[in-house]
Amino acid sequence: MYPTYLDAFNSGKLERLAEQAFGMLESCAICPRQCKVNRLKDQRGFCKTGSKAKVCSYMPHHGEEPPISGERGSGTIFFSHCNMSCVYCQNYEFSQAGEGREVGAADLAGFMLELQGMGCHNINLVTPTHVMPQILKALCIAVSKGLKIPLVYNTGGYELPEMIRLLDGIVDIYMPDMRYADPEMSKKYSHAPDYPKYNQASVKEMHRQVGIADMDDQGIIKKGLIIRHLVLPNHISGIAKIMKFIAQELLPEIYISLMSQYTPYYKAKDFADISRRVTLGEYEEAETIMHQNGLYNGWTQDSGGLERFAGVHIKSNIRKNDP
Ligand code: SF4
Repeated sequence: MYPTYLDAFNSGKLERLAEQAFGMLESCAICPRQCKVNRLKDQRGFCKTGSKAKVCSYMPHHGEEPPISGERGSGTIFFSHCNMSCVYCQNYEFSQAGEGREVGAADLAGFMLELQGMGCHNINLVTPTHVMPQILKALCIAVSKGLKIPLVYNTGGYELPEMIRLLDGIVDIYMPDMRYADPEMSKKYSHAPDYPKYNQASVKEMHRQVGIADMDDQGIIKKGLIIRHLVLPNHISGIAKIMKFIAQELLPEIYISLMSQYTPYYKAKDFADISRRVTLGEYEEAETIMHQNGLYNGWTQDSGGLERFAGVHIKSNIRKNDP
């Protein structure tokens, strides 16, 4: 059945999985931080989140990649806090400062159903890693009340592959970032020196589960992997290594979203190398590296969709007079 979680719900797997994942919060090691705090007793680890998920907002989002937002919007739920701590965080008010309110499983299920009722194409879970168990509990309730649109797992990509493996048969669409290739950079800018290792292993697992993007006849993604790469100034992200990894370890048909919108928010002004926006020259160089690896923004050239998607998510934030 589609979405894939309907089978898991009908077989009882979803409920068992939700219980299993929720139990892991007793000594939380569900992400690479391995804090081992008892979140069931509301102890807080790196992500500052206890037994309840905190939500900043939820709404139909029309600014995601075209296959995600479509005509009717993506039913986006922005979770507060994060297991990363990027000095340039673009969502720092809720991701780092924790704006939002704690909600129980029934409330979270209600948000999902409300978004479906608004006609959204999917439920887009933004920064879900640290609240995955809470999401599964809410999903059980929502499905029992008629939820039937796919989940988008929209993650910064600092994930344990074994936790992603648990989501096999639950999530249809993965949209991870691949932020860094170099541990020195991920340590300096996101306090996560092991990010590249876990990120690459997790993206491989996502790809194993859902494969390349499969679109319906309206161009809306039904299932598959979309990899986001935010171009950072001064080659901080290590795009050459990341594109090589994608081309060699995954498939050239992978849908890539090469993003130009980096803006030096939050503490970025304190770091000389990332204290400015990306130049047009840097973005074009990133595009060239991507193409040299046989990869393209959106669809591959061969699919004929390149023109349709390229340019939608890019360059709009680069000023015309940038060098
Ligand atoms: S989810 Fe939060 S508490 Fe659990 S290991 Fe990760 S950062 Fe630590």
